[in-house]
Amino acid sequence: MRAVPTPPRHLTVQRSQVAALHRAQLLGQRGVVIWLTGLSGSGKSTIGYALEQRLSSGRHLTYVLDGDNMRHGLCSDLGFSHRDRTENIRRIGEVAALFADAGLIIITSFISPYRSDRELARQRVPAGKFVEVFLDVPVEVCERRDPKGLYKKARAGEIPDFTGVSAPYERPGAPEIALDTELLSVDACVESIVGHLESKGFFDVGDDDEAEAGAAG
Ligand code: ADP
Repeated sequence: MRAVPTPPRHLTVQRSQVAALHRAQLLGQRGVVIWLTGLSGSGKSTIGYALEQRLSSGRHLTYVLDGDNMRHGLCSDLGFSHRDRTENIRRIGEVAALFADAGLIIITSFISPYRSDRELARQRVPAGKFVEVFLDVPVEVCERRDPKGLYKKARAGEIPDFTGVSAPYERPGAPEIALDTELLSVDACVESIVGHLESKGFFDVGDDDEAEAGAAG
């Protein structure tokens, strides 16, 4: 597997003079990465975009990074080998961390089948600002849904290394949220995530928040 490259020693990390609290006060929210993970067809795009709409209508600045979209641009040079999947998630983790640092509520919608890749993405944001949401639904259900006809193609041998069929999915050990999208409606899933953000204070931005004041850069 590709190791994360280390930057040359002569580079210096520059620090912003704008405090995270200032950005949070401008936006009325704290930046956070909401990392949706699960099999193809588990509901990541559906829930991701519904959550984006729900938060936007509540006047929150939010943005979805969706798997297929990213593979048309930022990650268009990558395939689906273990190595390329890892690099795909590494890039998404970096972009998500930057968005969150800028104060956005960033929603990522990627199968992200490997636990170590998700952990690396988690480590790129400050503690508590990474919310792993596991869409926990059996592969049989996803295959029955097959919204893009991908399982059919995978079973026919037309798509190699297809997660859940011919490539592994490593279940999260301790996600912040696990949702059974077979039992819960899309709205219920969205409200569960919004409730989590509320309970963790992502929409409360006080003037005297010491913890945030030190988190610039
Ligand atoms: P993924 O992005 O994980 O590949 P999609 O969101 O593209 O999955 O597809 C999920 C399919 O399952 C959609 O057709 C959606 O309408 C359906 N679905 C049924 N119930 C739910 C639910 N509770 N949450 C999300 N999707 C659901």
